[in-house]
Amino acid sequence: MEIKKVVVIGSGTMGSGIAAHLCNANIPVTLLDLKTEISEQARDKIYKSRPPLLLDKSKIKNIKVGNILDNFDEVKEADWVVEAVVERIDIKHDIYKKIFKERKKGAIVSSNTSSIPIKILSQHLSEEEKKDFCITHFFNPVRYMGLLEIVKNENNDLDKINSLKAFCETELGKGAIICNDTPGFLGNRIGVFAMQVAMNEAFKMKLSIEEADAIFGRPMGIPKTGVFGLYDLIGIDLMADVLKSFIKELSENDPFQVVAKEIPLVKKLIETGYTGRKGKGGFYRVNKTGEVKVMEAINLETGKYSASKKINIKSDKIDLKELISREDKYGEYAWSVISKIIKYASSLVPSITKDFNDIDEAMRLGFNWTKGPFEMLEEIGVETFFGKIDDFKGNAFLENLSKNRNQDFYGSRQKYTDIETFGKAKKKALSVDGNSSAQIYRFNDYNIVEFTTKANALDYDSMDALKKATDKPLIIINESMQFSAGVNLSYTMDFANKNDFKSIEKFIRYFQETCKHLKYSNHPVISAPSGLTLGGGFEVMVQSNFVASHTNIVVGLVETIVGLIPAGGGCKEMLARWLDTDEAKKDPHYAPLKVFDIIGYGKTATSPIEAEPLKYLRPEDKKIMNRNSLLEVSKKILDDNKEFKTPSETEFKLPGKEILIEMNKIIENLYNEKIIRDHGVTVAKELAHVLSGGDTTIDKTLSEDDLFKLELDAFMRLIETKETQDRIKHTLATGKPLIN
Ligand code: NAD
Repeated sequence: MEIKKVVVIGSGTMGSGIAAHLCNANIPVTLLDLKTEISEQARDKIYKSRPPLLLDKSKIKNIKVGNILDNFDEVKEADWVVEAVVERIDIKHDIYKKIFKERKKGAIVSSNTSSIPIKILSQHLSEEEKKDFCITHFFNPVRYMGLLEIVKNENNDLDKINSLKAFCETELGKGAIICNDTPGFLGNRIGVFAMQVAMNEAFKMKLSIEEADAIFGRPMGIPKTGVFGLYDLIGIDLMADVLKSFIKELSENDPFQVVAKEIPLVKKLIETGYTGRKGKGGFYRVNKTGEVKVMEAINLETGKYSASKKINIKSDKIDLKELISREDKYGEYAWSVISKIIKYASSLVPSITKDFNDIDEAMRLGFNWTKGPFEMLEEIGVETFFGKIDDFKGNAFLENLSKNRNQDFYGSRQKYTDIETFGKAKKKALSVDGNSSAQIYRFNDYNIVEFTTKANALDYDSMDALKKATDKPLIIINESMQFSAGVNLSYTMDFANKNDFKSIEKFIRYFQETCKHLKYSNHPVISAPSGLTLGGGFEVMVQSNFVASHTNIVVGLVETIVGLIPAGGGCKEMLARWLDTDEAKKDPHYAPLKVFDIIGYGKTATSPIEAEPLKYLRPEDKKIMNRNSLLEVSKKILDDNKEFKTPSETEFKLPGKEILIEMNKIIENLYNEKIIRDHGVTVAKELAHVLSGGDTTIDKTLSEDDLFKLELDAFMRLIETKETQDRIKHTLATGKPLIN
């Protein structure tokens, strides 16, 4: 079965997300809604979306819009019709009647429902029609969420379902998990239960919402929105609808019923328009008094708002064993929540899936958890778990495990896909080595380095691991949300606060040395980025010999925003790339000016297609839709480069003072037009100095080390200024830039 054209019916949040993502895969798609104006507006929203749903704005040309009265003929041409209308069974049934009347023989019809069982959706279909009908449950936002749940009915043509799965894996890059027809399937059944437990326990234990989010967040390997932040993001009213549907669909004695009970404060928030970020606010709200915006948090007991407090739980690592053993309210809360999630998830095996690890993978792909409930159990340890847990009668999975006490119960991972993923590979490593910032997995003929810090921020240890792992071909890859958000700024600021600039210099030197070593080691080095690949993260990538990039990357050099310049080889590599162009060969000013513009503004690209014109990525770098395939593609690069020869060092010819004069004029104009302020001028001047080549002329040749030295000196001058330190502190505290 080939999918060459798709019709999506319903152009709301999900329909437009699915249509946009089909465009990304270059599949022509028609988006239909009740009225053409609605689908037209949806197309507009897709075009302007942030973070962008499109890999590149030009992809929008793949979308046609229309309405279900005048343009239903479009369905006749489609190989796949996706229904994404409102969650109402009568409307869905009506639509199916129309679709099956018009569709091409054999075309697939699927629903994006999040809660209606397939047996109800398909109850009016003929046996023949049921063969081609299934649920394809995408997650929001479709481009970024990896999970696709596919639910079959008893009549499905299995070959067809498998080829749809293959299409969604390869072309759309989804982790497609086939699920049983049970309420909420895998992701939402466990994910929403977990949110409800986290919320109910916070009420019970009288935790503040900031405290609950600080625990049910990074320390548990869960995104930092936590539970209350996530409620605000999804919409408190939408969550209430989701809960109602679970209450209706699940049996009376399902433990979900207890945690899904309406909470008076939540009801009041919805009634008063506090539906979350889209409304007046939610559990958190931004209160504006004059020019000053204050983030406020609700008090769960009184319902009153006050300024939100930052919670320091004094641990930055994901260490569940340590977390649940803490003898304070945080430890108690963590154990209570984690143990309930493990108990519930395990009680649903095999009814919701026979492969318990599919639940973990669904949590990873659909909720961005680092570990699912069963991996949490594995990490806590079977003995510790049973030493702490109360009653689990009737839970066959736990009863069995409590008898055999098999710590190695887990087995393999990611059974839902045939792709040899990094997740599967790391379980087969010959040995594991590393430090607190990175792991080294050693295999027969190559090594893997996985960064393991928060947002994979880089420090001395990350560099150490990279250096140590170049005794064989090396692949730098990870499973977390970001490849690397750059150098660890708090680590750098800790030194700056102590006036210990020597240590900062030592670190940057080591960073440079390591990146140079990656580029010129005897074995090929491959970076396989996904997510943020910024600053130092970009410098690691750009100084690898090969790149296999996921299509969801945010890539760029953003150092100037925090008052610094790239000093790990970023300026050097961008110059090298731009000097290697026809224009630069004709005009010696071309490359430094281009790079000045790109780094000066801290430009970022949100996909490989946007990254290429900036030369953050090269045409020969591999671009891959399915993140799961990054390792296979990297390994293929290694196979294709068995005869790898270490490249020869790049040389630079730069105009020196001549171009500096031109750059200084640009800086002056930016200052006069109030685009930059005083410190912006200082930073820009340092950048200009580096990119001009310093004290040189166009006939002289500079080495990579010369460029590294220019970068380091400029970086050190900047980090010592109060203004740069102010910028860094501000960004660390607020996540926003300071313009000074
Ligand atoms: P939405 O309310 O944003 O959009 C629904 C769209 O359907 C609207 O544009 C509406 O005009 C249109 N519509 C209504 N009746 C129609 C009809 N008869 N013909 C054509 N169009 C019609 O809804 P949504 O959030 O995009 O949800 C769509 C489906 O996806 C639902 O089944 C929902 O359960 C499911 N879902 C939603 C999410 C989510 O996060 N929003 C996630 C996964 C699945």
